[in-house]
Amino acid sequence: MAFEYAPAPESRSVVDIAPSYGLFIDGEFRPAEDGKVFKTVSPSSEEVLSEVAQAGQSDVDAAVRAARKAFEKWSALPGSERAKYLFRIARIIQERSRELAVLESLDNGKPIRESRDADLPLVAAHFFYYAGWADKLGHAGFGADPKPLGVAGQVIPWNFPLLMLAWKIAPALACGNTVVLKPAETTPLSALFFADICRQAGLPKGVVNILTGDGSTGAALVAHPDVNKVAFTGSTEVGKAIARTVAGTGKKLTLELGGKAANIVFEDAPIDQAVEGIVNGIFFNQGHVCCAGSRLLVQESVQDELLEALKRRMSTLRVGDPLDKNTDIGAINSAEQLARIKSLADSGEAEGAQRWAPACELPSTGYWFAPTLFTGVSQAHRIAREEIFGPVLSVLTFRTPAEAVEKANNTPYGLSAGIWTEKGSRILWMADKLRAGVVWANTFNKFDPTSPFGGYKESGFGREGGRHGLEAYLNV
Ligand code: NAD
Ligand code: MG
Repeated sequence: MAFEYAPAPESRSVVDIAPSYGLFIDGEFRPAEDGKVFKTVSPSSEEVLSEVAQAGQSDVDAAVRAARKAFEKWSALPGSERAKYLFRIARIIQERSRELAVLESLDNGKPIRESRDADLPLVAAHFFYYAGWADKLGHAGFGADPKPLGVAGQVIPWNFPLLMLAWKIAPALACGNTVVLKPAETTPLSALFFADICRQAGLPKGVVNILTGDGSTGAALVAHPDVNKVAFTGSTEVGKAIARTVAGTGKKLTLELGGKAANIVFEDAPIDQAVEGIVNGIFFNQGHVCCAGSRLLVQESVQDELLEALKRRMSTLRVGDPLDKNTDIGAINSAEQLARIKSLADSGEAEGAQRWAPACELPSTGYWFAPTLFTGVSQAHRIAREEIFGPVLSVLTFRTPAEAVEKANNTPYGLSAGIWTEKGSRILWMADKLRAGVVWANTFNKFDPTSPFGGYKESGFGREGGRHGLEAYLNV
């Protein structure tokens, strides 16, 4: 029998959300020129949190103009001066991390345990890390005096709103670029709070501009003729559309798209440790993770033992209030995403796989999906091929290492993979053969600003993080 938990909610009072927000252009908040707005809701309660501006073409023009104007002075500053601003931003993020963590959990639905212990520390670390590069660009391996590109247009998704902002903005500013960033329409608030942090840090006007809006705002931004660099994280479908828009314009482009990672467990792996890694791989952030370990490849000889342990562990996962400190799995980010997850899970059953989920009570309002696993999955099933982007694991089996490699690589994606085995030589052999940008060994979903991240094939191109991440923002 598991112990009952008393509720342990984090206080909402640490964050003060205004009833409405404007666009952040040239250091000021202002309404959209045509006055359009949209609402952002908390996916765990469907409560409206705030109303934000929907940027149109003339707002995009104004933001790019502000960024262009700011570029001249910002790019001419010595790197050591730019570093001071980035260090200041990093420290303010640390100081305000509790407020930002609660805000992120409210707007996105992710558990406070994750926003507090994973997202926010990584956001601050990313700014600290790239602050350190700003005065050392001549030693990064891109020539003695590498130059910035100009104005960067950046479009990010809703799964890690503030972390994806950090991945985009920190290296861009360190290298001397100015930015116009568009957060996702379901999670605009932390980017607007970041705009406030830029003001608090005394960042010169126009260096960072934040445009809230939907896909049409993103499309106008990436198509703007005075943008020099486009960085996008999101779906492969939109990534392809952006690649078509940017083709032939001379704009530099990086795309970080979806994934369908294999988490591969060999018979000699420590089973309990592997189970933790599988759970972290697919249920972290409700499975809204591009590098999620959504395909479990288990060696046939340990399948029964592993699945039994995995089901036992899944039965202890707590689904519910994102602000409760004991919650493991929060709310699905939007009604649309929930519908997508449901329809893919239904296709799994229709195509003949066996569905299993622990008994678990879901709240009556908000968007929820119980942690789910499918056995009897074949490589042709949609749940083995398509990115579900939810808490759904597809289990496949293999007999030999060669078969594991073949099945792991049998996907249009190539973002990440995991290997669980006691044998070091097998880890190296496998890692060499897996077509994935990141390969974790006996762990999963580990992130660090010093380590490059990015994909092969339909997972996109370009690297974010580490020294490699500078290249995307330098004229090299
Ligand atoms: P999306 O790609 O539509 O949205 C991502 C961002 O792109 C948002 O800010 C959106 O406003 C913007 N956008 C949409 N259309 C655009 C366009 N034509 N030009 C420029 N920007 C545009 O993703 P989604 O619809 O929220 O999710 C759909 C699926 O994408 C998910 O189910 C998941 O499989 C995948 N996804 C992947 C990631 C990732 O991190 N790789 C993130 C989010 C979603
Ligand atoms: Mg929201």
